[in-house]
Amino acid sequence: MSLDREKVMAALKTVQDPELFKDIVTLNMVKDVKIDGARVDLQIELTTPACPMKDVIQKDVTNALKKIGAETVNVNFTANTKGPLQSRSDILPQVKNVIAVGAGKGGVGKSTVALNLAVGLARSGAQVGLMDGDIYGPSMPTMLGLKGMSPNVRGNKIIPFFLHGIHCISIGVLVEPEKPLIWRGPMAHGAFKQLFSDNTEWPDLDYLVVDLPPGTGDVSLTLCQLLPITGAVIVATPQQVALDDAIRAAKMFQQLGAPILGVVENMRGDLFGSGGAELAAQRLNLPFLGAIEQHRELRINSDAGDPTANFTGDPKLREELEQIVRNLAGQVSVRNMGATQPVLNVS
Ligand code: ADP
Repeated sequence: MSLDREKVMAALKTVQDPELFKDIVTLNMVKDVKIDGARVDLQIELTTPACPMKDVIQKDVTNALKKIGAETVNVNFTANTKGPLQSRSDILPQVKNVIAVGAGKGGVGKSTVALNLAVGLARSGAQVGLMDGDIYGPSMPTMLGLKGMSPNVRGNKIIPFFLHGIHCISIGVLVEPEKPLIWRGPMAHGAFKQLFSDNTEWPDLDYLVVDLPPGTGDVSLTLCQLLPITGAVIVATPQQVALDDAIRAAKMFQQLGAPILGVVENMRGDLFGSGGAELAAQRLNLPFLGAIEQHRELRINSDAGDPTANFTGDPKLREELEQIVRNLAGQVSVRNMGATQPVLNVS
């Protein structure tokens, strides 16, 4: 049976994107099909370089084409991260997706998660920025190893640092270290807005991850009013009280009209137990992105300003982080393909 374009496209139409629940032809992911006898070369444009389903798609495409007589199938993957900002925002049009990371209270590892999500997304091949928006207690200068460094300035704009594969900025590098940061509401609003958009020259980015201050407050409100964010990630610990914290954070994002991309459980282990945040995600009808156990190495690498080491040392830590990164990238793609937020169960 000789192959032609029509047969190949019909076969590809039987391959579903396992996350988006539509076939890859309808999703316009198939590009540049070349047929040469029994050999098919094609390009598949994924919605994110961190696509968790790449291997499944590759296998399904190969099987579908072999079924119609192809002997050699060569799939080349590219990625085009789409996002709500491209078409709907005058602010930061060069940034495709803004992902906020929030928590109901401090000390749950929100900054740790934000940083490692950013580094993990960048390691998958995406262009990523990280903004330390925790203007009351910026911890990124330590975690990124920025201490003592000052950013370059072009005109009246700050150029973010490029470290660990990500473009990053923190208010912590603009103020004196160890000075308590006390902001009144409008000041917090202004400081955040200036650093986030007015005065920082972000390059083209697939994802800009924003570490928000804990709890509910002006900064979250400012961010959500400023531009259509793709969504928020909620970080909570495994204890039973995590449920209340996660609910509080979810309610806040819901009130602000921001979609919630999912919940991360951090510090799972002997000390804090297991499963509280996962249960919270279930009860709230939100995606559970994954859990990070208590890892001494994670704390040590954070204190040393070396997040890359989290992805090159302990394989268990690396796997936990990469799984959350893949799930998050998947949720961003799902939202950008037009999925609506599941009904939140926060009453
Ligand atoms: P938050 O931003 O919620 O206030 P941080 O991210 O600053 O919390 O984390 C608080 C402390 O806990 C930091 O010292 C950090 O290194 C440590 N930490 C966070 N997550 C873990 C974990 N899974 N295992 C061990 N230490 C962690």
